[in-house]
Amino acid sequence: MEGLSPAEIIAILDLAEDYVAQNRQIDKKQSLLRGRTQINLFFESSTRTRTSFELAGKRLGADVINMSVATSAIKKGETLIDTAMTLNAMHPDVLVVRHPDSGAVNLLSRKVDGSVINAGDGSHEHPTQALLDALTIRRRLGRLNGLTVAICGDIMHSRVARSNILLLNTMGARVRVIAPPTLLPVEVERLGVEVHHDMRSGLADCDIVMMLRLQTERMKGAFVPSIREYFHFYGLDRDKLACARPDALVMHPGPMNRGIEIDPDVADDIHRSVIREQVEMGVAVRMAVLDLLSRHLSNRPVALAQ
Ligand code: ASP
Repeated sequence: MEGLSPAEIIAILDLAEDYVAQNRQIDKKQSLLRGRTQINLFFESSTRTRTSFELAGKRLGADVINMSVATSAIKKGETLIDTAMTLNAMHPDVLVVRHPDSGAVNLLSRKVDGSVINAGDGSHEHPTQALLDALTIRRRLGRLNGLTVAICGDIMHSRVARSNILLLNTMGARVRVIAPPTLLPVEVERLGVEVHHDMRSGLADCDIVMMLRLQTERMKGAFVPSIREYFHFYGLDRDKLACARPDALVMHPGPMNRGIEIDPDVADDIHRSVIREQVEMGVAVRMAVLDLLSRHLSNRPVALAQ
Protein backbone atom coordinates (compact mmCIF):
# COMPACT_ATOMS: atom_id res chain seq x y z
CA MET A 1 0.00 0.00 0.00
CA GLU A 2 2.89 2.28 0.72
CA GLY A 3 3.18 4.88 -1.99
CA LEU A 4 -0.24 4.34 -3.59
CA SER A 5 -2.12 7.61 -4.13
CA PRO A 6 -5.83 8.11 -3.41
CA ALA A 7 -6.50 8.14 -7.19
CA GLU A 8 -4.69 4.82 -7.64
CA ILE A 9 -6.59 3.21 -4.77
CA ILE A 10 -9.90 4.48 -6.18
CA ALA A 11 -8.98 3.12 -9.64
CA ILE A 12 -8.42 -0.37 -8.18
CA LEU A 13 -11.64 -0.28 -6.15
CA ASP A 14 -13.69 0.97 -9.12
CA LEU A 15 -12.38 -1.80 -11.34
CA ALA A 16 -13.01 -4.36 -8.59
CA GLU A 17 -16.67 -3.30 -8.53
CA ASP A 18 -17.02 -4.60 -12.10
CA TYR A 19 -15.57 -7.92 -11.02
CA VAL A 20 -17.95 -8.21 -8.06
CA ALA A 21 -20.80 -8.09 -10.57
CA GLN A 22 -19.09 -10.57 -12.90
CA ASN A 23 -18.43 -13.01 -10.03
CA ARG A 24 -22.13 -13.08 -9.22
CA GLN A 25 -23.01 -14.31 -12.72
CA ILE A 26 -23.25 -17.95 -13.75
CA ASP A 27 -20.45 -17.56 -16.30
CA LYS A 28 -17.55 -16.08 -14.36
CA LYS A 29 -14.82 -16.65 -16.88
CA GLN A 30 -12.99 -14.15 -19.11
CA SER A 31 -10.02 -14.48 -21.43
CA LEU A 32 -8.11 -11.33 -20.44
CA LEU A 33 -5.16 -13.34 -19.10
CA ARG A 34 -5.31 -16.12 -21.69
CA GLY A 35 -1.81 -17.44 -22.40
CA ARG A 36 -0.43 -15.91 -19.19
CA THR A 37 1.07 -17.96 -16.37
CA GLN A 38 0.51 -17.12 -12.72
CA ILE A 39 2.46 -18.91 -9.99
CA ASN A 40 1.21 -18.70 -6.40
CA LEU A 41 4.32 -19.18 -4.29
CA PHE A 42 3.38 -19.58 -0.64
CA PHE A 43 6.10 -19.99 1.98
CA GLU A 44 3.46 -19.71 4.72
CA SER A 45 0.16 -21.49 5.06
CA SER A 46 -3.00 -19.86 3.75
CA THR A 47 -6.57 -20.80 2.95
CA ARG A 48 -8.40 -17.63 1.91
CA THR A 49 -5.65 -15.70 0.18
CA ARG A 50 -4.28 -18.58 -1.90
CA THR A 51 -7.71 -19.79 -3.01
CA SER A 52 -8.77 -16.24 -3.73
CA PHE A 53 -5.72 -15.52 -5.94
CA GLU A 54 -6.19 -18.88 -7.67
CA LEU A 55 -9.84 -18.17 -8.46
CA ALA A 56 -9.00 -14.62 -9.54
CA GLY A 57 -6.36 -15.83 -12.00
CA LYS A 58 -8.55 -18.63 -13.35
CA ARG A 59 -11.58 -16.39 -13.79
CA LEU A 60 -9.43 -14.08 -15.89
CA GLY A 61 -8.25 -17.03 -18.01
CA ALA A 62 -4.66 -17.42 -16.76
CA ASP A 63 -2.92 -20.76 -16.21
CA VAL A 64 -2.44 -20.89 -12.45
CA ILE A 65 0.06 -23.06 -10.59
CA ASN A 66 0.21 -23.35 -6.82
CA MET A 67 3.48 -23.98 -5.04
CA SER A 68 3.71 -24.37 -1.30
CA VAL A 69 6.73 -24.93 0.90
CA ALA A 70 5.66 -28.42 1.93
CA THR A 71 6.07 -29.69 -1.63
CA SER A 72 8.92 -27.52 -2.92
CA ALA A 73 12.72 -27.62 -3.02
CA ILE A 74 12.81 -25.00 -0.25
CA LYS A 75 12.38 -27.97 2.08
CA LYS A 76 15.60 -29.30 0.58
CA GLY A 77 17.51 -26.14 1.50
CA GLU A 78 17.17 -24.00 -1.62
CA THR A 79 17.41 -20.25 -0.91
CA LEU A 80 14.66 -17.79 -1.69
CA ILE A 81 16.68 -16.23 -4.50
CA ASP A 82 17.51 -19.60 -6.07
CA THR A 83 13.83 -20.53 -6.01
CA ALA A 84 12.98 -17.19 -7.59
CA MET A 85 15.59 -17.60 -10.33
CA THR A 86 14.44 -21.16 -11.06
CA LEU A 87 10.84 -20.10 -11.43
CA ASN A 88 11.88 -17.05 -13.44
CA ALA A 89 13.51 -19.32 -16.01
CA MET A 90 10.04 -20.76 -16.72
CA HIS A 91 8.79 -17.28 -17.70
CA PRO A 92 5.83 -16.79 -15.38
CA ASP A 93 4.02 -13.52 -16.02
CA VAL A 94 2.86 -13.07 -12.43
CA LEU A 95 4.20 -14.39 -9.15
CA VAL A 96 1.93 -14.11 -6.12
CA VAL A 97 4.17 -14.48 -3.08
CA ARG A 98 3.61 -14.97 0.63
CA HIS A 99 6.64 -15.20 2.93
CA PRO A 100 7.16 -15.20 6.73
CA ASP A 101 9.89 -12.51 6.52
CA SER A 102 9.11 -8.82 6.13
CA GLY A 103 10.74 -7.53 2.94
CA ALA A 104 11.23 -10.96 1.33
CA VAL A 105 8.64 -10.32 -1.39
CA ASN A 106 10.25 -7.02 -2.30
CA LEU A 107 13.66 -8.71 -2.52
CA LEU A 108 12.27 -11.45 -4.75
CA SER A 109 10.56 -8.92 -7.02
CA ARG A 110 13.96 -7.42 -7.86
CA LYS A 111 15.23 -10.78 -9.11
CA VAL A 112 12.47 -11.79 -11.51
CA ASP A 113 11.14 -10.40 -14.77
CA GLY A 114 7.39 -10.80 -14.28
CA SER A 115 5.04 -8.91 -11.98
CA VAL A 116 5.13 -9.78 -8.30
CA ILE A 117 2.14 -9.38 -5.99
CA ASN A 118 2.66 -9.32 -2.24
CA ALA A 119 0.24 -11.81 -0.63
CA GLY A 120 1.63 -11.03 2.84
CA ASP A 121 5.25 -10.61 3.99
CA GLY A 122 5.91 -11.24 7.68
CA SER A 123 4.39 -8.52 9.82
CA HIS A 124 5.03 -5.90 7.14
CA GLU A 125 2.21 -5.66 4.57
CA HIS A 126 -0.77 -7.47 3.09
CA PRO A 127 -1.94 -4.97 0.49
CA THR A 128 -4.75 -6.91 -1.19
CA GLN A 129 -6.31 -7.45 2.25
CA ALA A 130 -6.43 -3.69 2.85
CA LEU A 131 -7.92 -3.17 -0.61
CA LEU A 132 -10.63 -5.78 -0.06
CA ASP A 133 -11.41 -4.26 3.33
CA ALA A 134 -11.69 -0.82 1.73
CA LEU A 135 -14.00 -2.18 -0.98
CA THR A 136 -16.21 -3.83 1.66
CA ILE A 137 -16.43 -0.60 3.67
CA ARG A 138 -17.03 1.61 0.62
CA ARG A 139 -19.85 -0.63 -0.65
CA ARG A 140 -21.56 -0.62 2.76
CA LEU A 141 -21.04 2.99 3.85
CA GLY A 142 -20.49 4.71 0.50
CA ARG A 143 -17.15 6.28 1.43
CA LEU A 144 -13.89 5.95 3.35
CA ASN A 145 -13.21 9.62 3.90
CA GLY A 146 -14.18 10.87 7.37
CA LEU A 147 -14.95 7.45 8.86
CA THR A 148 -13.52 6.36 12.21
CA VAL A 149 -12.02 2.89 12.07
CA ALA A 150 -10.82 1.00 15.16
CA ILE A 151 -8.28 -1.77 14.55
CA CYS A 152 -8.16 -4.00 17.61
CA GLY A 153 -5.87 -6.68 18.96
CA ASP A 154 -2.46 -7.90 17.88
CA ILE A 155 -1.31 -4.79 15.99
CA MET A 156 2.34 -5.63 16.65
CA HIS A 157 2.45 -8.75 14.48
CA SER A 158 -0.20 -7.77 11.95
CA ARG A 159 0.58 -6.99 8.32
CA VAL A 160 -3.17 -6.50 7.86
CA ALA A 161 -3.10 -3.64 10.39
CA ARG A 162 -0.13 -1.97 8.70
CA SER A 163 -1.62 -2.08 5.20
CA ASN A 164 -4.99 -0.91 6.48
CA ILE A 165 -3.48 2.00 8.41
CA LEU A 166 -1.65 3.14 5.26
CA LEU A 167 -4.73 2.85 3.04
CA LEU A 168 -7.19 4.39 5.50
CA ASN A 169 -4.92 7.35 6.25
CA THR A 170 -4.38 7.92 2.53
CA MET A 171 -8.13 7.90 1.96
CA GLY A 172 -8.88 10.38 4.77
CA ALA A 173 -10.29 8.02 7.42
CA ARG A 174 -9.37 8.35 11.11
CA VAL A 175 -7.65 5.28 12.49
CA ARG A 176 -7.55 4.16 16.12
CA VAL A 177 -5.62 1.16 17.33
CA ILE A 178 -6.78 -0.63 20.48
CA ALA A 179 -4.46 -3.12 22.16
CA PRO A 180 -2.54 -3.89 25.34
CA PRO A 181 0.87 -2.13 25.35
CA THR A 182 2.58 -5.49 24.76
CA LEU A 183 0.82 -5.90 21.40
CA LEU A 184 1.65 -2.46 20.00
CA PRO A 185 4.81 -1.70 18.04
CA VAL A 186 7.06 0.99 19.53
CA GLU A 187 6.17 4.52 18.44
CA VAL A 188 2.97 3.26 16.81
CA GLU A 189 1.66 6.87 16.88
CA ARG A 190 4.10 7.67 14.11
CA LEU A 191 1.95 5.59 11.76
CA GLY A 192 -0.70 8.30 12.14
CA VAL A 193 -3.06 6.53 14.53
CA GLU A 194 -4.75 7.33 17.83
CA VAL A 195 -3.74 4.79 20.49
CA HIS A 196 -6.14 3.26 23.04
CA HIS A 197 -5.58 0.53 25.60
CA ASP A 198 -9.21 0.26 26.62
CA MET A 199 -11.77 -1.26 24.23
CA ARG A 200 -14.71 0.76 25.54
CA SER A 201 -13.11 4.18 25.13
CA GLY A 202 -11.43 3.16 21.88
CA LEU A 203 -14.63 1.92 20.29
CA ALA A 204 -16.68 5.01 21.22
CA ASP A 205 -18.41 6.34 18.10
CA CYS A 206 -16.51 4.13 15.68
CA ASP A 207 -17.99 3.34 12.26
CA ILE A 208 -15.88 0.21 11.76
CA VAL A 209 -14.52 -2.32 14.26
CA MET A 210 -11.76 -4.38 12.71
CA MET A 211 -10.65 -7.33 14.83
CA LEU A 212 -7.28 -9.09 14.46
CA ARG A 213 -6.13 -12.59 15.28
CA LEU A 214 -3.53 -13.16 18.00
CA GLN A 215 -0.63 -14.16 15.72
CA THR A 216 1.03 -16.65 18.03
CA GLU A 217 3.20 -18.03 15.20
CA ARG A 218 5.06 -14.70 15.13
CA MET A 219 5.39 -14.36 18.92
CA LYS A 220 8.61 -15.15 20.69
CA GLY A 221 7.55 -15.45 24.33
CA ALA A 222 4.31 -14.54 26.09
CA PHE A 223 2.53 -11.36 25.01
CA VAL A 224 -0.71 -11.85 26.97
CA PRO A 225 -1.16 -13.28 30.50
CA SER A 226 -3.82 -15.80 29.41
CA ILE A 227 -6.36 -16.31 26.62
CA ARG A 228 -9.21 -15.93 29.13
CA GLU A 229 -7.94 -12.61 30.35
CA TYR A 230 -7.30 -11.45 26.79
CA PHE A 231 -10.87 -12.21 25.77
CA HIS A 232 -12.19 -10.48 28.88
CA PHE A 233 -10.40 -7.22 28.10
CA TYR A 234 -9.97 -7.26 24.32
CA GLY A 235 -12.38 -9.85 22.87
CA LEU A 236 -15.23 -8.25 20.93
CA ASP A 237 -18.56 -9.14 22.54
CA ARG A 238 -21.99 -7.46 22.54
CA ASP A 239 -21.15 -5.28 25.55
CA LYS A 240 -18.03 -3.79 24.05
CA LEU A 241 -19.60 -3.45 20.60
CA ALA A 242 -22.38 -1.37 22.19
CA CYS A 243 -19.80 1.41 22.67
CA ALA A 244 -19.37 1.81 18.90
CA ARG A 245 -21.96 3.52 16.69
CA PRO A 246 -25.25 1.58 16.67
CA ASP A 247 -24.72 0.68 13.00
CA ALA A 248 -20.96 0.04 13.24
CA LEU A 249 -19.73 -2.84 11.08
CA VAL A 250 -17.59 -5.69 12.40
CA MET A 251 -14.70 -6.97 10.27
CA HIS A 252 -12.06 -9.69 10.59
CA PRO A 253 -9.48 -10.75 7.98
CA GLY A 254 -9.64 -14.40 9.04
CA PRO A 255 -8.77 -16.94 10.16
CA MET A 256 -10.89 -16.01 13.13
CA ASN A 257 -10.36 -17.48 16.59
CA ARG A 258 -13.80 -17.62 18.18
CA GLY A 259 -13.74 -16.96 21.89
CA ILE A 260 -10.26 -15.41 21.76
CA GLU A 261 -10.56 -12.11 19.88
CA ILE A 262 -14.24 -12.33 18.96
CA ASP A 263 -17.43 -13.72 20.46
CA PRO A 264 -19.21 -16.09 18.02
CA ASP A 265 -22.44 -14.22 18.71
CA VAL A 266 -20.96 -11.03 17.21
CA ALA A 267 -19.04 -12.77 14.43
CA ASP A 268 -22.22 -14.44 13.16
CA ASP A 269 -24.54 -11.45 13.49
CA ILE A 270 -25.67 -10.85 9.91
CA HIS A 271 -26.70 -7.28 10.73
CA ARG A 272 -23.28 -6.23 11.98
CA SER A 273 -20.64 -8.64 10.70
CA VAL A 274 -19.33 -8.31 7.11
CA ILE A 275 -16.72 -11.05 7.46
CA ARG A 276 -18.12 -13.22 4.64
CA GLU A 277 -18.49 -10.19 2.40
CA GLN A 278 -14.79 -9.43 2.91
CA VAL A 279 -13.98 -12.86 1.48
CA GLU A 280 -16.17 -12.21 -1.58
CA MET A 281 -14.55 -8.81 -2.16
CA GLY A 282 -11.14 -10.46 -1.97
CA VAL A 283 -11.58 -12.31 -5.25
CA ALA A 284 -12.81 -9.16 -7.02
CA VAL A 285 -9.96 -7.00 -5.73
CA ARG A 286 -7.37 -9.60 -6.76
CA MET A 287 -8.91 -9.78 -10.24
CA ALA A 288 -8.62 -5.99 -10.47
CA VAL A 289 -4.96 -6.09 -9.45
CA LEU A 290 -4.18 -8.87 -11.96
CA ASP A 291 -6.09 -6.99 -14.66
CA LEU A 292 -4.10 -3.78 -14.09
CA LEU A 293 -0.79 -5.63 -14.04
CA SER A 294 -1.67 -7.44 -17.27
CA ARG A 295 -2.19 -4.10 -19.01
CA HIS A 296 1.33 -3.21 -17.98
CA LEU A 297 2.62 -6.54 -19.33
CA SER A 298 0.99 -6.03 -22.71
CA ASN A 299 1.78 -2.30 -22.87
CA ARG A 300 -1.89 -1.42 -22.87
CA PRO A 301 -2.63 1.88 -21.08
CA VAL A 302 -2.52 1.49 -17.33
CA ALA A 303 -4.07 3.81 -14.79
CA LEU A 304 -1.50 2.97 -12.12
CA ALA A 305 2.13 3.93 -11.80
CA GLN A 306 4.18 0.74 -11.78
N1 ASP B 1 -4.91 -13.89 6.97
C1 ASP B 1 -4.28 -12.70 7.48
C2 ASP B 1 -2.80 -12.69 7.18
O1 ASP B 1 -2.33 -13.56 6.47
C3 ASP B 1 -4.57 -12.45 8.91
C4 ASP B 1 -4.14 -13.53 9.87
O2 ASP B 1 -3.44 -14.47 9.49
O3 ASP B 1 -4.48 -13.39 11.05
O4 ASP B 1 -2.10 -11.83 7.64
